[in-house]
Parts: sequence; C-alpha cells; structure tokens
Amino acid sequence: MHNVRELLRPSKEEWAGLPRRRSGGRVTLMAWLLGLLTVGGAFVADRGWEEVSLSWEESLLPINVFAGVITNTALLLGIVGWAMGRYLALALSGLLAACAIAQMIVGAQSAPVWTVGTGIAAVMAATDFVSSSRQLRAIRTLAARLRNGETVELGSDVLTAERNALRGGWWITLAFLCISLALCTWFVFDWVDAQNKAVPSDGSTFRPFEAVFAPPAMMLLIWSCSRNIRKGLAYRWAGRFVWIVPGAGGPVWTNGLEPSYGGRVEPEDNRANGCICREGEARRDPEYEDFPDDDVAADDYCALHGFDAVNSMDHASFRASANSAWLWDENSRTPNTSDELTVASKALLGCAGYLFCGLLVVRSSSGIEMPASGATEAYEINKGDADIPNRAKAIPPSEQGILDTIDLAPAGLSGTAVRYRHGRAWLRTDEP
Ligand SMILES: [Zn+2]
Repeated sequence: MHNVRELLRPSKEEWAGLPRRRSGGRVTLMAWLLGLLTVGGAFVADRGWEEVSLSWEESLLPINVFAGVITNTALLLGIVGWAMGRYLALALSGLLAACAIAQMIVGAQSAPVWTVGTGIAAVMAATDFVSSSRQLRAIRTLAARLRNGETVELGSDVLTAERNALRGGWWITLAFLCISLALCTWFVFDWVDAQNKAVPSDGSTFRPFEAVFAPPAMMLLIWSCSRNIRKGLAYRWAGRFVWIVPGAGGPVWTNGLEPSYGGRVEPEDNRANGCICREGEARRDPEYEDFPDDDVAADDYCALHGFDAVNSMDHASFRASANSAWLWDENSRTPNTSDELTVASKALLGCAGYLFCGLLVVRSSSGIEMPASGATEAYEINKGDADIPNRAKAIPPSEQGILDTIDLAPAGLSGTAVRYRHGRAWLRTDEP
C-alpha cells in the first residue's frame, strides 16, 4: 500500500536534538577565500606578470589547452564561485586537483600551490560531508526509535505533490546537460578548426573562451545529478514517515507548521444569519471579494462572534465549541486535544534532512491532505539561525478584567480558558 505511511511523534526535546549543519554562508566564504588564495598564489609562483607566450603550435597541444582552460576555470570559480554555495569546497577540490596535475605535467612552478589548495579544499569538503551525514543518521535513528505502528493514509493530491517534488530537480539537471553539451561541442569545433587553420601571422595563440565555461557547467551537471540521486535514495526511506513537528528548534521548518491562533471565523460560521464579520472583512480588505471562501477576522461586536457572545456562554457550551478559533484572542493559541503533542494539525511528509526537508501536509479525520495554499517544501535551518519567524510571544492581558476561567480537560482539550470582560478568551497552558 504505497499511500499508507507511518506517523511519528517526536517530543520537543527529541526534535530539537536533531543536529543542524553549519551555516552554508561560512562554509562558502572559507572555500571562496581558499580559491582566491590558490589562484593568486599560483600566479605569484608562476610569475604570471612576465609574458611567456607560447607559439601557435604549442598552444594547440592538448596539455596546454587543458592547462589553460582549467586554470582559467579556477580563476572564474574563484571570482563567481560564491553562487555554488556550500558545494564550492567540493567543486574546488576537484578543479584544483585537475590544475595541480596539469601544471605538474607542464612543469610549472605553481604545481605545489595547486596541490596545497587541493588538500585544504578536500578537508573542507570532507568536514561538511561528515556533518551532513551526521544529520541524516540522527534522523534515521530517531525515526526508528519512534515507530509504533501508527499509520495514516495519503490522499491522491498528496501523492501527486510528492511525485512532483521529487521530479522537479531533474529538469534542472536536463538544463545543465544541454548547456554542457552545447559548450563542449562548440569547443571541439573550435579546436578542430584551429588545427586546420594556417598559423596566424600576428603571433596570437589558441584561446577558446567558451571552454572556460564548459567545466563549471559540467560540474553543475554532476552536482545536480548526484543531488537528485541522493535525494531519491534518501526519500525511499524517508517517504515512509509523516512527522508531527512539535514546534521550531529542529533542523527544518516551514511556514504553516506554527500553531494556530484565534480571532478567525470559519466560512461555515460566517455565513450564518446575523453575522457581521464578513461585512467588516470586506470593508477592511479590498481583495476580500476574490477569496470569499476563506475564514475572516472575528468582529468585536458581532452578535454571533463578538465579545458578548464569547462571554455569555455557560462553561459547558464554551467547552463544547472550544475548538472554534473565534472564541480566542487573535494572539492566543487555540487549544488542542490533549493526546496530541503539538498544537499544529500540520505535519511534514518525508523529512530526509537537508537532502529533502519534507512536504507540508494537513492531517484531517480522513487522512493526510495537501494544504489549501498548495505544495510547500520545508527548508533547512542551520546552526546559529534564528528558530523561526515566530509570532511575537504575545503577553496575555493583565489579571485585571478577568471574568472567569474554564478548565478544558473535560472536553478532552489541554489548557485553561481565561475569559476577559472586554475581549476574547486566552488559552493558558503549561507549554512554554
Ligand atoms: Zn460573526
């Protein structure tokens, strides 16, 4: 049954204990500096400012063409390699190694500089790889420990979104493949053409500029292809699980996972006779007419959803409708059933760490569905990043003006409702 997945409920501590990777920015900066230093050091070692010009025939020798192209690519990568992000270290170690070999063969003074650069880049790439695989291992270990046989069924729209999310990366790979092929073909034609040409009289040499871009294109092709394969392989395992994320603090996050807040009236409620909430929303929001099926802000003076409506309920009826968002202040969380470890009804399908952070899904009574907003992939949170752009920790109104408190436990909900004379209710919980 490919649409049945296992439900995992990590605790806040377990989720926050999953390792985050170091920030990509710092890794990239270090690799970028290394690239610049190596290219600069090689220039000095080769006394690059002294013009040693090759003859036309010499410049057509494969080793000279190769050395020229690869060195120029290293220079290019040193300047614009920033765009490769944290994969720059890996790309550099391959490229600098090729430079080291090429310069060793032509007997250049700079060969040791390229070799040292290769060594340092390889160490950087290995360090990043180790921290990345530590994260994947930790997620696997936690999932294995949390499995308890609880399953959920995915709707067909979720299966489609899942397929699309895994397929998307291959279009980029195809684009890099086309660019690489075009550049390589161009270069081969250029080279063959140059060999059949008469020696130019002005002493110029063979310098195929397009060839400088071919190695980066091929590196991007290899990078994109290997990433898709690793993502696919990781998802074969990770896709079996739906994670109920117990809040921020873990290695991935996306908007929509945050808990729900009050102050809204659902469409089925705001169509009731006597409700003025829709009119208020239409006045405030000129684009409201485009989304008539959305929930709307609760009006303070609505006969059905205003302050008086909240406060006139007896405790039993308050408990019975405590799940309705309009009872609660817009800065107060809404209560959740006490057997749930989280307030969010959203979850993440298939979290494979940084390789695939997971797909935002909605839990409902019938199973797992896509959110109305469409498919959203979670993103990675690095070490030292702020947890999430959380709603400011709103402070409930002062103790003054409290009307009464209602324990929600009899309704199977967690927390206590605090009602105010001139406002909506606030949820008091033990949760931080
Ligand atoms: Zn209303």
